[in-house]
Amino acid sequence: MHETHIEVHVGLDDTDTDLEGCTTHLTFRILSKILSEVSKAFFSDYPLLIRLNPVIPFKTRGNAATSFSLKIPENDLSTLKNLVISEFLEYLETIKGGGVEPGIAFLYGNIPDELSRLYRKALTDYVHKDYVTEIINRYKEFIETPLGYSRGLVGALAAIGASNTLVECTYEILVYRVRDNYSRDRCVNEESIKAMDKVFRDQTFLNYDYENNKPLIMPSGRNPVLLGIRGEDPVALVKALKTLNLCEDFEGWLIYKTNQALNAHHVERSIEEFRPYQTGCVKGRVVENPSIRLGGDVLLKLSSLENEYSLWAVFFSETGLGKIARYLMRGDVVRVCGGGKWWEGLGLVIHGDLLEVIELVSETFKNPLCPICGHRMKSAGVRKGWKCPACGYKSLTLSKDKVKINRKITVGTYRPVDHAIKHLIMPQSRVGRRSPCDKELVSEWIHVRKNRSISL
Ligand SMILES: [Zn+2]
Repeated sequence: MHETHIEVHVGLDDTDTDLEGCTTHLTFRILSKILSEVSKAFFSDYPLLIRLNPVIPFKTRGNAATSFSLKIPENDLSTLKNLVISEFLEYLETIKGGGVEPGIAFLYGNIPDELSRLYRKALTDYVHKDYVTEIINRYKEFIETPLGYSRGLVGALAAIGASNTLVECTYEILVYRVRDNYSRDRCVNEESIKAMDKVFRDQTFLNYDYENNKPLIMPSGRNPVLLGIRGEDPVALVKALKTLNLCEDFEGWLIYKTNQALNAHHVERSIEEFRPYQTGCVKGRVVENPSIRLGGDVLLKLSSLENEYSLWAVFFSETGLGKIARYLMRGDVVRVCGGGKWWEGLGLVIHGDLLEVIELVSETFKNPLCPICGHRMKSAGVRKGWKCPACGYKSLTLSKDKVKINRKITVGTYRPVDHAIKHLIMPQSRVGRRSPCDKELVSEWIHVRKNRSISL
């Protein structure tokens, strides 16, 4: 008998406040369960790990949501739904801490364009509840939200929308710890991380911070993620992982397709239209010499090249961008990317995660030198010419000198240092790499350990 198959998309976001990694771990648990209990489930692509707008005030710590798509016989649909919901609820019970507003969404069939738009908005802007409920109402035959509306639903639906929106992708293989180890230090041999980086650095990124002698593949804090290796090719990720010496037990691994390290949140905006809680890039002229705050953060006032509008940008010292921004001068033209926040007393301030220096002022005008004694002359008053403070010589005919300025920085694009790179931001090492979204599903895209022992 011929079975009718249905395409199902599932989006998840737990909007958890203190346990980063939970959404991806929950997704790993759900996928493991589907593969063992829904025998006819068919996956043709990786699950998505989607990072959303980092400047939204209430969000998950890693501002991550996930989604996955599969085909199943229609008869298995209720089994699938029950399984997903019960795993989700069971998982929530194990999470301590308040502020959890879980989101879960099912979509059947094609992904409507509205969800692509929702993804782009949730990545770069503030999403109002009405915006989401309107989409749900319009597609109520195809969208199910078993837990009702919650803040997490925005991420869950956006993650589904991302799946036919992404034009550039990276991949991440995430390895999950066993629960007993959560409160212990992560145990991965550091030398093996450096060795892995040496072999795989062209196909992976952000493995090790050689400046501070610190691995970058391991998160900190009490959460289920042992490590994550990021790169452009899932085959290389599995190979890279297998070279590591793990000295603690693990539950398994899962490869995600992601929007990480692509500067996906950098949309072009004008200074006039940029609003708080939006992300993006603006081009403008530096109107005042930068002010350097205690701790090395640098504040910059930018004005539009077309009109009177202006805003501020800040480069925090830990990003390393402050060291560049402090040498900018009034008159320079720059492009700044990041997320906008409202600062008391200043107004809109872009928290910069990229600084492109487009034009540097190279000349300035100075008062003329005295032709008699060589001292720098002073203005003698409006239309009164110049007067030498040393010898008293006066002149009505001398004009200002054009003087070349020795600049300490050059035109170019500056990015944060590796250890300050947050999820969406493109590290220097990724610049110019291909970002394929069409990598085939490898057989080891998910690995669940049955008999646990340490070796891979
Ligand atoms: Zn003089």
